[in-house]
Amino acid sequence: MAASDKTLDDLFVDMLKDVYSAEKQILAALGKMTKMPDSEKLALAFDTHRAETEGQIERLEQIFASVGKPPQGKTCAAMQGILQEANEMAEEFKGSDALDAGIIASAQAIEHYEITRYGTLKSWALELGMQDAARLLERNLQEEKKTDQLLTKVAEERINARAA
Ligand code: FE
Ligand code: FE
Ligand code: FE
Repeated sequence: MAASDKTLDDLFVDMLKDVYSAEKQILAALGKMTKMPDSEKLALAFDTHRAETEGQIERLEQIFASVGKPPQGKTCAAMQGILQEANEMAEEFKGSDALDAGIIASAQAIEHYEITRYGTLKSWALELGMQDAARLLERNLQEEKKTDQLLTKVAEERINARAA
């Protein structure tokens, strides 16, 4: 017998609040990140993902509505940390040839955090019988994975261009 009567439903809502907070932080960061890189392709990738992020936040709000809760973030300390590291790097490498490599690495840390959260939330939604929520979470998950893959591609092109 568990010593607390908290359930998987409670855990699901808690993690939904965590990723809602993370997405709001990311939306603000992407606005700035679009202006940072030397590579136009990278800037465009951030701008595209900023628009996607707005849609992801709306999907999360639909899920909050489906569980009868107001959309509310619970400060994601992990994303605060990832973004703090990203800002420190950008400050230290501003104006250098290595800046874009650093920005890509930071962006991939963000995407990987989102991928782990959406993977977990989708599994829990299915376990809880929330098919619609699972479908919405899967769409967010696929956008994060696609962005991660695009970042890998931009990084590889960067390396190839330098080697040429
Ligand atoms: Fe996202
Ligand atoms: Fe978090
Ligand atoms: Fe993302």
